[in-house]
Amino acid sequence: MSRTRTAILAAMALVAGATGAAVAAAPADVGIAAIPCTVDYKVQSQWSTGFTAAVTITNNSAAKSSWAVKWSYAGNQQVTSGWNAKITQSGTAVTAANETYNGTLATGGSVSFGFNGSYSGTNALPTSFTLDGVTCNVDDGGTDPTDPTDPGTGTRVDNPYAGARVYVNPEWSAKAAAETGGSRISSQPTGVWLDRIAAINGVNGGMGLRAHLDAALQQKGTGELVVQLVIYNLPGRDCAALASNGELGPTEIDRYKTAYIDPIAAILADTKYAGLRIVTTVEIDSLPNLVTNTGSRPTATPQCDVMKANGNYIKGVGYALGKLGDVPNVYNYVDAGHHGWIGWDDNFGASADVFKQAATAEGATVGDVHGFITNTANYSALKENNFTINDTVAGKSVRESKWVDWNRYTDELSFAQAFRNQLVTVGFPSGIGMLIDTSRNGWGGSARPAGPGATTTVDTYVDGGRYDRRIHVGNWCNQSGAGLGERPTAAPATGIDAYVWMKPPGESDGSSTAIPNDEGKGFDRMCDPTYTGNPRNNNNLSGALANSPLSGHWFSAQFQELMRNAYPAL
Ligand code: BGC
Repeated sequence: MSRTRTAILAAMALVAGATGAAVAAAPADVGIAAIPCTVDYKVQSQWSTGFTAAVTITNNSAAKSSWAVKWSYAGNQQVTSGWNAKITQSGTAVTAANETYNGTLATGGSVSFGFNGSYSGTNALPTSFTLDGVTCNVDDGGTDPTDPTDPGTGTRVDNPYAGARVYVNPEWSAKAAAETGGSRISSQPTGVWLDRIAAINGVNGGMGLRAHLDAALQQKGTGELVVQLVIYNLPGRDCAALASNGELGPTEIDRYKTAYIDPIAAILADTKYAGLRIVTTVEIDSLPNLVTNTGSRPTATPQCDVMKANGNYIKGVGYALGKLGDVPNVYNYVDAGHHGWIGWDDNFGASADVFKQAATAEGATVGDVHGFITNTANYSALKENNFTINDTVAGKSVRESKWVDWNRYTDELSFAQAFRNQLVTVGFPSGIGMLIDTSRNGWGGSARPAGPGATTTVDTYVDGGRYDRRIHVGNWCNQSGAGLGERPTAAPATGIDAYVWMKPPGESDGSSTAIPNDEGKGFDRMCDPTYTGNPRNNNNLSGALANSPLSGHWFSAQFQELMRNAYPAL
């Protein structure tokens, strides 16, 4: 993955400095494997007569022991001094060659350098770059006969996160940076939640969708950039809980289509944004409710029965997938709960079937689905290394432990990989990829077990060894003891497109007491630390932090707790 700390800081400097750097148009939807090299040229800061620029080269061809990158200026820019490259200029033509210490450039490797320059008039970005004579940032047309994965132009890339940086939401970043110690993570990419119709234009003077996409174009520079959006406004939203009930009633499917999805799709289809890779995660925590919280199940709720009967979750998700999937640079990822929800045999196959039903409703096809995302609303550990599902202790299988309770999976990674296979089996394209939300599943800190639990009973073994310190795997609200998980990373494991922070750390899951509001949010006692539970968490304590605000609102104490218990540690 090419996203580095410096690249993100450079991107942030652009936003913060509002230097209005232009963006050289990169072709949309090109196969990354077909681009021999990328050059990311950014104006980091600019004043009336001068500027500072940062350049990152990524080599996708054979490894090099020396390199030279060239570009020309349309204006009168003049390089005055550089660092980490020998930079010479003749007229408008600039050549930057390696220093003795950074000539090695592996296949897939990157190198960065910077310089100061002078200019007058406009400081237009160069539009074309070569690396050792080969043009960068341009697809070779998908004609490389030696490259079997070359999709050519006009198709989506297999993994949008590969070779791309990810949009840093300036609004979240500012809140994180304002926290003590928050600057350690404030340059991380997080999801932009469109959690009500008004969010499209911006709530309370905040950034709307176009403002985010415009900021994304600035962060993009001449490289590739993923923007992560969350589509979250279904009729009768959050039918098995109250904390994230929304503005649309159970029957308001037409409003969902015309006042929410259509305007979003129209903005995303603006050709101005064609060079962005737009990841849309579709309707968190919705479809699995139709399987697990309906009918004669003890976990059923009347609200989920209504949504199953009226079909508006299926119709809404189908409509969203079809409409958004019509935009060639949109990558739809459908929410797939988490292992502690659909990892049981009764739920696993049935959920995949419901996803297929939604992906073929209202004009959508399975081809509109690029993948699935798990764990966004949850805290399930990524990997439990101290026990496996196949272990047996004192004559009992780990599946019989209280914690695992017959689930087929012990952690999110093994679940996501297995569920991907199930989804392909029911008819989704074989190339689908999974995203795992690692924003709050780190479980580090002093309570993290250093090794397996005692083999006295299967419960001492599992409880003594598990990283996930929740009281019950069904607990989901502002979990006490949780930490930040893996930092966002592209292609971290087989079948996984990325680890992402779709849920922005520090934003509450729900209020611990009833708070009147105009967002449709209810009070769910799963967010009250004194609550003793319901069938969905097997009547356990909620494990929630006290004094929490409404879902989506900033919760400083939780943000601090997540940093304290981060794993890997900050
Ligand atoms: C809330 C949304 C919020 C999102 C991200 C959800 O639980 O219902 O309003 O945008 O979390 O924090």
